[in-house]
Amino acid sequence: MARFGRTRRRFLELVGSGAVVGVAGCLGGGGEQETETTTTAEETDDDHDEERPEGVSAEEFEHGPVPEAYRTALSQANEQRDPENLFTKEAVKFQEADDAVEAGLTEAGRDCGNCAEYIPDKNGDGFGACAKVEGYVDPADWCSLWESIEEAEGETGGDETASVA
Ligand code: SF4
Repeated sequence: MARFGRTRRRFLELVGSGAVVGVAGCLGGGGEQETETTTTAEETDDDHDEERPEGVSAEEFEHGPVPEAYRTALSQANEQRDPENLFTKEAVKFQEADDAVEAGLTEAGRDCGNCAEYIPDKNGDGFGACAKVEGYVDPADWCSLWESIEEAEGETGGDETASVA
């Protein structure tokens, strides 16, 4: 089932280091991309790219719906999320912020966590949502709509012009 991401971390934390490598390979049979050879729980904490909240399918993670608390919530720059008017992740080059920096798409220090459109985690699963993009959002991700909170708050009412870089 789709309880893999966080469950896997918990598993690794329980088992500890070393002996996990072989077992982690076995766990990859459910369609997940389990190709890493992480051996410690600490390292796993950095490996957020393949994780999802418990019970959330890959489809839900990508396209939603997000939990009710986020559906029409306000972003951290007070933009209201409209679930009927969102970009797909693909359309906005959504990816890990580190990867985006590496690819030359953005500069270091820009991620969802400090973006005007981000709706911070409301249920303790480590993921939030976005006022512009569908699905679940990790604060360490990034997309081409990134906008600083300061910039957005300076635009009194002109927040509908975020462009796809
Ligand atoms: S960087 Fe993109 S996905 Fe992330 S919060 Fe901002 S607009 Fe949303």
